[in-house]
Amino acid sequence: MRFFLNGIHVPHRKNTASMKAVRMPSPQAVTIPMSMHIGKAAKPIVKVGDRVYVGTLIAEADGYVSSPIYSSVSGVVKGIVDVTLPIGAMCRAIKIESDGEMTPDADISVPSVSNKAELIEAIRKSGTVGLGGAGFPSHVKFNVPEGKNVSELIINGAECEPYITSDTRTMVDKSDDMLYGIQRICDLLNINRVIIGIENNKAEAIASMKKMAESDSRIEVDVLPSVYPQGGEKVLVYHTTGKVIPAGKLPLDVGCIVSNCTTVAAIGNYLKCGIPLVNKCVTVDGGAVSKPMNVIVPVGTSLSDLFEFVGGFKGEPYKVLIGGPMMGQSVESLDTPVMKNTNAALALTKAECKGKTETACIHCGACTNRCPLGLDPRAFMRAYRCDNVEELEKLRVDICMECGCCSYVCPAAKPLVETNKLSKAKLRAYLAEKRAKAELENKKFGEEKKNG
Ligand code: SF4
Ligand code: SF4
Repeated sequence: MRFFLNGIHVPHRKNTASMKAVRMPSPQAVTIPMSMHIGKAAKPIVKVGDRVYVGTLIAEADGYVSSPIYSSVSGVVKGIVDVTLPIGAMCRAIKIESDGEMTPDADISVPSVSNKAELIEAIRKSGTVGLGGAGFPSHVKFNVPEGKNVSELIINGAECEPYITSDTRTMVDKSDDMLYGIQRICDLLNINRVIIGIENNKAEAIASMKKMAESDSRIEVDVLPSVYPQGGEKVLVYHTTGKVIPAGKLPLDVGCIVSNCTTVAAIGNYLKCGIPLVNKCVTVDGGAVSKPMNVIVPVGTSLSDLFEFVGGFKGEPYKVLIGGPMMGQSVESLDTPVMKNTNAALALTKAECKGKTETACIHCGACTNRCPLGLDPRAFMRAYRCDNVEELEKLRVDICMECGCCSYVCPAAKPLVETNKLSKAKLRAYLAEKRAKAELENKKFGEEKKNG
């Protein structure tokens, strides 16, 4: 008998699941941010007036945890500008005026990959990052340290947020790229078991993945209940393998690598064709959108161009989100560009966002009961409001995955997930200060010892 962690039932609204993705023609210009991944922003290597093509390297990775960036259109560099990211932070971006031709870079070539080091370097060069939304550079994730073994590669095909179906389309339309990526990774990293975790509300994708699995005995498909947040890393590892990732640890600490299905497809495509990550399949949906669909978009395309491509709005959107309604970011401007890890652009009506008025906590315990990690968001809120950072540390707010289940079920409409995010930031600052103080003390002690 299998046990499942707590979660919630959210409306699926997978309106676009059966629609094959449509390729968007080149917009007039793209604005490509240098920070589309976790880690250090990439460093621009082009200047105003430079001619670029689809796949031309325009920014180098600046350090190990960083990722190179390629032009998504052919045209001319118009400027290095500031852009506001969906999370609200500013970052440098390269603005390129398109010539409308989408001419590929003549230097694109298929990488030669025959061992682990070459595979990791190829993944780095492909510019692939976690495409489920996390944006973690994939070459870092797959660079398994010596002495660590990977018993399972878990492919995340859960796609548990409402509306979003871009991963579903990958599993249906790009299973050949997925298979190639999975097989090369498994061959060169010596992984013998691959589990594709997929929710039971995706019949077409399940059939496609099962067919793919027939061609390689290492691959199995695990059909899981449609319960949010099925795609959370810890949740998926537990549900597919029964392994518990301890607090503060990673899947690798229990012998697993978790990778999104679109990420392995992007890696497979690069290994086959040498074309780096320059496009992204984005679900465009929401009650305010004229014609919801999945669109293959050049990275750096503005949301306004993307929404225009799908026929614009039926009415004034109340809220525009990058990502899903549970974990996505609401954006203030339609100039916001599509990034490597953008999986959805939603324009929601007021009725879809209907909010409740905050009232007093009635101590029903629903927030804790539905938290997949068994955390106590009500206690986080109390500690945060009293500025009790030691308590936040004890309560392990740091492991909250910000899934939003607690907020969703709270009858008092408490801003629980928002408070969790603020609490995590407060705790991070407190721990950094504590570390800095300890280092200073150690230094002082060392100097005193030296001076007798
Ligand atoms: S947001 Fe954090 S505390 Fe709330 S349910 Fe998700 S993991 Fe638990
Ligand atoms: S769900 Fe809301 S009302 Fe219920 S205990 Fe948690 S914070 Fe209080």
